[in-house]
Amino acid sequence: MEEDNQSFFWIKSEGQERLATENMIPGNQVYKEKLIIKSNIEYRLWDPFRSKLAAAIMNELEYFPFENKSQVLYLGASTGTTVSHVSDIIGSSGIVFGVEHASRVARDFLDRVASHRSNVIPILQDARKPKEYFSVFGKVDVVYVDIAQPDQTQIAIDNCEMFLKKGGYFFLVIKTRSIDVTKPPKRIVAEEIEKLKSRFDVLQTIDLHPYDKDHAMVISKFKS
Ligand code: SAM
Repeated sequence: MEEDNQSFFWIKSEGQERLATENMIPGNQVYKEKLIIKSNIEYRLWDPFRSKLAAAIMNELEYFPFENKSQVLYLGASTGTTVSHVSDIIGSSGIVFGVEHASRVARDFLDRVASHRSNVIPILQDARKPKEYFSVFGKVDVVYVDIAQPDQTQIAIDNCEMFLKKGGYFFLVIKTRSIDVTKPPKRIVAEEIEKLKSRFDVLQTIDLHPYDKDHAMVISKFKS
């Protein structure tokens, strides 16, 4: 993928070009990632073994709708590793709403990420109950879903129906083993894609190997 809008960067570190975002909060680390200053700008290395969005970029993601001022609904924020890089990319005029239901990880998400970043709105709710996210306002440009639940595709579709703009982008991480351990991964991904087709144009499917085993990412666009 061409890096044309400077959403992310390739920075030389230890002899290799590595993925990075410009740190919105200079000096602040989220997951002990390396900070590198180049021409007076501080970058945070973005680890594809820790973030599936970074893994997708490494594996030739062709669509990257996260940009300055984007509004994003992110389901399964966990401790906020990926959310923090999305926050860097969208900048202070963007917003990422991060939904997480487990209170223990949500505490880390607040301490490490949301409390430092004005563009991150934490939502401690179950993604099955989108009507209870009172803090989401308007419609978003991107819905990103990584919740590893057997019924996640339906949960994701319900959230898109409520919050995604027509023509907006939908990123779905499929953890094949959390859906059905008895079926071959390719078949599971194909079945999940089938569920999307009436409401979405499916654009790309990416296997996240070797960064993440048993995971695929499906990128689609909400039909107008
Ligand atoms: N996306 C994260 C990242 O890249 O840093 C990792 C997400 S982790 C695989 C899945 C997260 O989804 C867990 O923190 C889990 O608690 C959360 N989750 C699972 N089911 C959920 C639900 N129904 N509502 C909200 N969060 C949920």
